[in-house]
Amino acid sequence: MGFSRRDFLAGAAALLADMPARSLEARISGLSGEASQSGPFGQDTELAAAKSIYLTVDDGPKASMGSILDAAGDAHMLTFFLIGEQMTKGSPGYDMALRALRRGHAIGNHSYSHPFLAKASANKARMEIKQTDDIIASLYNEAGRHNPKLFRFPYRSIGHEGMIRREFGLQIVGWDYDTSDYRSEGRNTGKSMGIIRGAQEHAIVLMHDYPGTATVIRQLGAYGIASQALGPGGAAQYGLNVRHPVPFC
Ligand SMILES: [Zn+2]
Repeated sequence: MGFSRRDFLAGAAALLADMPARSLEARISGLSGEASQSGPFGQDTELAAAKSIYLTVDDGPKASMGSILDAAGDAHMLTFFLIGEQMTKGSPGYDMALRALRRGHAIGNHSYSHPFLAKASANKARMEIKQTDDIIASLYNEAGRHNPKLFRFPYRSIGHEGMIRREFGLQIVGWDYDTSDYRSEGRNTGKSMGIIRGAQEHAIVLMHDYPGTATVIRQLGAYGIASQALGPGGAAQYGLNVRHPVPFC
């Protein structure tokens, strides 16, 4: 398959070009500071920011997204792959996505109604991508931020990749580790935490928009783990040359 890794790398060079170096530097130092303060062994521990990951949160905006943003605070930057029909303009979901952007998180396209795109006609797929692409463009515009143009397939149901890249200029994003949090609707936070603790540096980790996700995020600092957002200033500067099988399930 290899779509996520190869495509991600292909887009990485382009992203590097407009990566704001200052904000990256600020973000890294900010993360280290936060982790050292919240670590379990006091401020002088070398555990601080021992590992940086890219935590991605799919299927929002949902009611739990507010608590996830609160848990992340300024310490962790997340990437949300959002469903268009849950954030139509003027809806509470739209406002929540805007709030995420204004706090520095990234948002990406996860289709309009979360279908199996591999089974969809070209026209259906095009509408699914476009409706959400328009909403996300509006959100980034309103937040005054650069849109990194990220896309993730619902159900990992891969199809119409050429169209997604060429017509919309989207970068297809997969993941390195799946917490499988959907199996317990996010309640098995211990399992998710175990997978995150075992994840390799700079790995992309898949979670979903559940209240339990906030619980997991609040524990990251204690383990010296910090999350960064994908996109400019995010994954692009790292090799991301690893592709793990789903490790624990
Ligand atoms: Zn999904």
